Amino acid sequence: MGKQVNPFGEAAYGLTFDFDFEKDIDAFPVLLDLLKKYEIQAGLAVIGKFVEKYPDIHMRAIDEGHELINHSYTHPDNPHWAPDRFFNKLSYGEQKVEIEKAHEACWKTLKYECVGFRTPHYGNLHTESVYQILSGLGYKYSSSTAACGYKGYAAPSMHSHGIMEIPTGCSVNFPLAIFDSWNMLRKEKPFLGDDDLFVEEFCKTIQLVKKYNLFLTHYFDPYDVVENNKMERMLKCLHGLKTVLYKDVV
Ligand SMILES: [Zn+2]
Repeated sequence: MGKQVNPFGEAAYGLTFDFDFEKDIDAFPVLLDLLKKYEIQAGLAVIGKFVEKYPDIHMRAIDEGHELINHSYTHPDNPHWAPDRFFNKLSYGEQKVEIEKAHEACWKTLKYECVGFRTPHYGNLHTESVYQILSGLGYKYSSSTAACGYKGYAAPSMHSHGIMEIPTGCSVNFPLAIFDSWNMLRKEKPFLGDDDLFVEEFCKTIQLVKKYNLFLTHYFDPYDVVENNKMERMLKCLHGLKTVLYKDVV
């Protein structure tokens, strides 16, 4: 296997979360409390509709130093607003509206200017057309691919239209799947299916990042990882590892 090109030259980790559902918003304050306790700043992929509906909690996140990532305006196929729509089935114009309206929501509601995007559900629903749209907005990065299906094994790299792609990482024992609670715990026949094993797999992976001076980033569903105290146990494993925001990667 080739050597990873680590933009930081030392072990570094980017922690991110996707706020897709009302239950993720419910978990938001708990998550912010935990991040504050462990002094970790994270990337938060947020939906324009939620920013407009819950400005205060998003503002608190910004005030506490977290980075907002544009995660589209309605998050197709979110059951609240876009149940029958899929991001990869939208026309170029419709994708553009989704991204631009989310950008506007963050700016108008929070006076926050996003510089990066994550495709809703990414992976299979991510399309090449996104990069041109992001470039038009002056964005710097996208984090919409899976490390296992992207060049460079989780190393960020210049994609196209001047946009850096920061692929979402896997874990030590499951290198061909995104390490998230969906793959590991929730889907039919999950890889792990157990909260304690999930935390253990995370901590083993982090040990490897530290040992080999790698850069790795994951995303998690807030409602899922605050449950059963998983997040706090994971944050403890991050102790001593440099954590970074995506805006520092580009
Ligand atoms: Zn999402």
